[in-house]
Amino acid sequence: MSNLSIESLATFCKKKGFVYQNSEIYNSIAGFFDYGPYGVDLKNNIKQEWWKYHVTSRPDIVGIDGSIITHPKVWEASGHAANFADIMLTCKKCKTKIRADHFIEDKLKIPADGMSPEEINTLINKNNLKCPSCKDDFEKVSHFNLMFSTNVGPVASKDSQTFLRPETAQVIFTNFKLVTENARLKLPFGIAQIGKAFRNEISPRDFLFRAREFEQMEIEYFIHPEKSDECPFLSTMLKHKVLVYSEEMQKKKQKPAQLSMKECLDKKIIKTPWHAYFLALEHQWFISLGANKDNFRIRQHVQTEKSHYALDTWDLEYQFPFGWKELQGLANRTDFDLQQHMKHSKQDLTLFDEEQKKKIVPNVVCEPSLGVGRAFLVFMFDAYTDDKKRGNIVLKLHPKLAPVKAAVLPLVNKLDKDARKVFDDLIKSFPCTYDKPGSVGRRYARADELGIPYCITFDFDSKTDKAVTIRDRDSTKQVRVKIIDLPDTLFSLLYNDIKFEKAGKPVKTS
Ligand code: ATP
Repeated sequence: MSNLSIESLATFCKKKGFVYQNSEIYNSIAGFFDYGPYGVDLKNNIKQEWWKYHVTSRPDIVGIDGSIITHPKVWEASGHAANFADIMLTCKKCKTKIRADHFIEDKLKIPADGMSPEEINTLINKNNLKCPSCKDDFEKVSHFNLMFSTNVGPVASKDSQTFLRPETAQVIFTNFKLVTENARLKLPFGIAQIGKAFRNEISPRDFLFRAREFEQMEIEYFIHPEKSDECPFLSTMLKHKVLVYSEEMQKKKQKPAQLSMKECLDKKIIKTPWHAYFLALEHQWFISLGANKDNFRIRQHVQTEKSHYALDTWDLEYQFPFGWKELQGLANRTDFDLQQHMKHSKQDLTLFDEEQKKKIVPNVVCEPSLGVGRAFLVFMFDAYTDDKKRGNIVLKLHPKLAPVKAAVLPLVNKLDKDARKVFDDLIKSFPCTYDKPGSVGRRYARADELGIPYCITFDFDSKTDKAVTIRDRDSTKQVRVKIIDLPDTLFSLLYNDIKFEKAGKPVKTS
């Protein structure tokens, strides 16, 4: 686990131009954030890598990009209008409002997600819990729907009211029939989407972790309802190991255990091969982009926290400095959503099974749903290194995620013109920066702090040998490369994972 606090990470993100609190000049508004010049590129790179891994590099998953505002009946059908609510505590005196389950979890160190209002009231009274602001009593708990409402058209009335979507998933279900026909999809297949979601969180906190406006990267993966045991991709993930915390382990107060997907399935800890496959796939995605595999675990939802429609739900959790928390939810949603939309829209959303010559309603065997902001935090926490020897922070972001790929530096001012030419050529191929003022050491430190993987120095020899020195951010090793080969070499370093020492002629440094 990183020993950096979430507050210190937020300060670093602001100072270095990654993320700002929204509308800070007006004292900000909680739960809303703006991404700065480096944050926007890091965020876009995360989304791009997710899309490549899950959509464009595989034939069975296609993408869509749906609208944020949809017909209000969507939210009636999905159950959000009636049920998408948290239990809220209100202080009798100062009227402070707090999310009840989080308050109970913080105070009593017990899981409280899914508790009923009665259970919460009993616990508050039994443990004599008071308002954290003024120490007065709470009123009786109440439900608070998290959807932001708005009105469509010039007249605000009950009929024109709709909502900003609290998740991207529903637009996948409402477009299900069109997408399957247009992309000629055959089961099993997935439909993916990246987009904004809005939740009027009672108490947004922990920086990007709990925001009111955020982005989700989601897949609905559909299978034939009678074929939940047939996952053609499972063999690729059977040996994958992860820390597992099943419902039984939680109930028996056992410790989580390192297990392979094969062991999980053999011991019936994970119910379907599909679930095992997706849990490993998602963990593997983070590892492939440089996250520390040991900071993750998979945790099964206990009965009380499971959504009413979900057959089985696992979370991919990450060990944040403020505890193990949900990074990504992976629910088996069965055919609940398609059935609901068929009922409410009176449209046929079934598929025709050519073999069995009958209509079927596909099952969503897994819905991996990941917040972009939470992924952003993981990559930042695992990259942030306080290098005492260098005397500066080194942000060891994976080169594919790094917002700026290279910094070009003239060794001294009088090499400015020649170095700038190298930069002007390179920026046509890669996002890079040019840094002239200050000592080379200071400029290396600036690049390290922004996570720039490579510094390219134009020195006195460069004019004669037509070569430059590349310095590797993580090892500080250096190689000499011909200027003409620079774009190809950088490309191999960034995207083909070649060993740094193989990229050019090694340079001895003191
Ligand atoms: P939590 O229990 O933390 O409130 P949830 O179970 O309500 O999360 P889901 O509805 O499963 O979350 O949403 C899927 C994913 O969307 C989460 O795993 C998380 O990565 C992201 N997410 C949900 N709510 C927020 C939020 N308020 N801010 C940032 N990301 C969020």
